[in-house]
Amino acid sequence: MAAKINSNFGNVSESYLFAEVARLVAEFQKANPDRKVIRMGIGDVTRPLAKTVVKAMQDAAAEQGKTETFHGYGPEQGYDFLKDSIRKYYADYGVTLDPDEIFISDGAKSDCGNILNIFAEDNLVLVPDPVYPVYVDTNTMDGRRVIFAEANEANGFLPMPEDIKTDEVPDIIYLCSPNNPTGAVYDHSQLKVWVDYANAHGSVILFDAAYECFVTGDMPHSIFEIEGAKTCAIEICSFSKTAGFTGTRCGYTVVPLDLVRDGRSLNKMWLRRQCTKFNGTAYIVQRGAAAVFTPEGEKEVKENIDYYRGNAKIMTDTMDKLGIFYTGGKNSPYVWFKCPNGMESWEFFRVLLNELGIVGTPGAGFGPAGKNFFRLTAFSTREATEEAMKKFCEYFR
Ligand code: PLP
Repeated sequence: MAAKINSNFGNVSESYLFAEVARLVAEFQKANPDRKVIRMGIGDVTRPLAKTVVKAMQDAAAEQGKTETFHGYGPEQGYDFLKDSIRKYYADYGVTLDPDEIFISDGAKSDCGNILNIFAEDNLVLVPDPVYPVYVDTNTMDGRRVIFAEANEANGFLPMPEDIKTDEVPDIIYLCSPNNPTGAVYDHSQLKVWVDYANAHGSVILFDAAYECFVTGDMPHSIFEIEGAKTCAIEICSFSKTAGFTGTRCGYTVVPLDLVRDGRSLNKMWLRRQCTKFNGTAYIVQRGAAAVFTPEGEKEVKENIDYYRGNAKIMTDTMDKLGIFYTGGKNSPYVWFKCPNGMESWEFFRVLLNELGIVGTPGAGFGPAGKNFFRLTAFSTREATEEAMKKFCEYFR
C-alpha cells in the first residue's frame, strides 16, 4: 500500500493568487525586458525596519553570542517582555488582556492556518467574499465546507449576518477589518452585531487584525473592544504591516481564557497545540518586535505608516478625480476600486500591465464578488505611486 495523500488538495486552485500574478509579471518582463514595471500588487512593504527595531535585534544577536546572555529554547507562547508590551498597547484601546491570552508567532498567515487545528473538520465556515484567500484555502485543505457572505457596494463591502444567503448557521466566522482586499473597516456597532450573533449561536469569530495599525479616528482596532467578544472571538495580528516585519516574521494571536466550546478551553487547546508543534519565535525577532512599542520605536513606525498613508491619499485622490468608485485608502493601505469601462478584473490586470506597466491584483482572485474590482496597494515608494497614478490618470481620463 502506498501512502495516502490529503485528497482535499484536489479542491484548492493549483497556484496561490499572488504566485499566479508573479508568474504573469515574470512572463511580461521576459517578453518586454526594456519596460519598467511598477509593483502595486502584493501587499509587501518597501520601507526598511525602524532603526530602533534594528538596534534591538543587533543587541539581541550580540546577547546570543555570549554565554552569560545566551537564550536557548524560549517559551513556545512567547517571551513576557513582548507580551507585556502588547498588553499595554491593547490597554490604550481599553482592552485588558491576561498574559496567558497572548501567543507570539512567526506571523499571521501561519496562525490563520494553524488555528484550524483546534477545530473539527465538520464545522461550517463563513468567509466574506472577497477576502484574503488564505481563509478559504486553509479550510479547503482540511476538507471544511465554506459558505460566503457577499461584500458589495450595497453593504459598503462590510457583510453583516443578514448577508448570509442560506439558513445555515456558520460555526466559524472570518472577519478581516481593516479588510484585505477592500480596505473597508467595521465600526463598533457593526462588530457588536457579529459578536452578539456569534455568542447567540455558539460560533467562533476568527478576527484578522493584520491591518489594525492603519485604523484612524474612533474605529475599532481590536474585536475585544466589543463587549462579549471574549466569549466568541480569537484575534490574529501581525507586525508585518505595522512595523515592516514581512521578511522578519512576527505576529501574535489572542485566544481569550473565557472562550469555551464543548466544555473545553480553546486557550488551553491552542497552548497544547503550540507546545507540541511550535518552538517559539526567534528571541532576536521578539526583541525587535518589543522595540516597536518603545517611544522611539512607535515614532519611527508611525512615520512609515504615515508614508504609506500618504501614498494611499495620492491613489484615492486619483480615483476621486476620475470619478471611479472605490473603498479603502483611509483606514487601510489598500484601495479597492471598480474597474473602468465595465472591465472584468483579469482583463483590467492585463490592460494595466501591458499599457501602463503597473501591477495590481485582480479582484476576482479574492472571490467571485471581486470580479469587477481591482486592488492596488499603498506599499510602493512615493515616487512609484506618483508615477503610477499619473499614468493611470492620463490613460483613464
Ligand atoms: N492577514 C491578512 C488579511 C493579510 O493580508 C496578510 C498578509 O498580507 C496576513 C494576514 C499575513 O501576515 P503575516 O505577514 O503576518 O503572515
